[in-house]
Amino acid sequence: MVDEMNPFSNALKQLDIAAEKLNLSPYIHEYLRHIQRILEVSIPVVMDDGHLEVFTGYRAQHNSVRGPGKGGIRYSPDVSIDEVKALAMWMTWKCAVMNLPLSGAKGGVICDPSTLSPRELEHITRRYASEIRNVIGPDKDIPAPDMGTGAREMAWIMDTYSMDAGHPIPGVVTGKPVEVGGSLGRNAATGMGIFYIIRKLLSNLNQACTDCSFAIQGFGNVGLNTAMALYKEGSKIVAVSDVKGGIYNPEGINIDDLKQYSEANGGTVTGFPGGDPISNEDLLEIDVNVLIPAAVENVITHANAPNIKARIIVEGANGPTTPDADVILEENGIIVVPDILANAGGVTVSYFEWLQDVQSYFWPLARINQELEQIMLKAFDDMWDVYQREKCSMRLAAYIIAVERVAKGVELRGIYP
Ligand code: NAD
Repeated sequence: MVDEMNPFSNALKQLDIAAEKLNLSPYIHEYLRHIQRILEVSIPVVMDDGHLEVFTGYRAQHNSVRGPGKGGIRYSPDVSIDEVKALAMWMTWKCAVMNLPLSGAKGGVICDPSTLSPRELEHITRRYASEIRNVIGPDKDIPAPDMGTGAREMAWIMDTYSMDAGHPIPGVVTGKPVEVGGSLGRNAATGMGIFYIIRKLLSNLNQACTDCSFAIQGFGNVGLNTAMALYKEGSKIVAVSDVKGGIYNPEGINIDDLKQYSEANGGTVTGFPGGDPISNEDLLEIDVNVLIPAAVENVITHANAPNIKARIIVEGANGPTTPDADVILEENGIIVVPDILANAGGVTVSYFEWLQDVQSYFWPLARINQELEQIMLKAFDDMWDVYQREKCSMRLAAYIIAVERVAKGVELRGIYP
């Protein structure tokens, strides 16, 4: 019996379904079911009150078939080895479905950044960077932000790695501040990518963003930037939440005002006067056209999937829907645009950032957004063709493309030695 809440079991199940559909050779299937490398490190930090605390961190690299590893670093009390392994595997499929020359990796530190001072966070980040330095690098594995980390942490990692090498190496991480080799457009990239995909999907279904209502779980990098892009397009966003709770207004929420409110109130949307309170659980079940889970994994399970009323789910978060829930949603005719495609705008602009860093030549924002849209839409069209041809879920369509590309790479390179 597979544990529905174990992300790595879920990642394996998704791979197994695609492997069966593709009739994948058993040796390639077995190869892809394993994580090539996982490093566990201890991070001792003298805390502000003088006591020593030892944090645990991980960096997992699923494989290196199609290029260097790529994937974010998560700071959360819920980080676990199985979560990091799942996220690394999902990054492999994400890079492959976007046809980027990168492979899957992911990292994390078990900590609660909301309880740590900037000095403590800097020490955690620099020591973590130092501990994983042998397995990362512009040609090996290029970390980026994920939940709980952002441009500030990436600058610290870039600095630690560079000081150790004795010269600047901006290409070791992406998602850095623009002043130290970051890319324009990286911060909003995941949200912009989700927006391009929603607009295209709705147009294929003869609808428009302005005809639809939206609910978004999570108001961090992904949720906020998705909400901003949709709102600018004239869409009605009726519910938004964060870890502390949500707000609901059937007439539509003013996202500009909500952004200002959240910035002024420690990053939370709770208490916003332009709506009524709603719980995270209820937000997932309200009657909207499009639901966007953009916070954490495993929020749509076999338990609440039967109650979901949205006709379209666009996965902003990684792994928000369990495979058991997928079966129910498919039976109920709900379209799920999978995470590996929907939220791939971040890794795509990360790829642009890495290209700009290694060439020391920086692109204007218009070029970034134009190339991002082009790559997102090409990946969506490829997935749409398979979706129509196979009459399967969009997740399976995306996995068929991604797994086939990586499997071809394994076949061509062979198994070392
Ligand atoms: P973030 O830390 O910027 O924001 C996370 C948001 O989710 C916050 O509003 C937080 O309050 C909320 N949240 C946390 N736990 C929650 C819970 N249990 N219930 C409801 N809300 C909760 O993180 P982010 O970068 O926006 O990442 C969100 C998701 O998107 C993650 O799954 C991440 O892996 C994925 N993702 C991020 C990027 C990126 O570029 N940042 C790219 C692809 C995928």
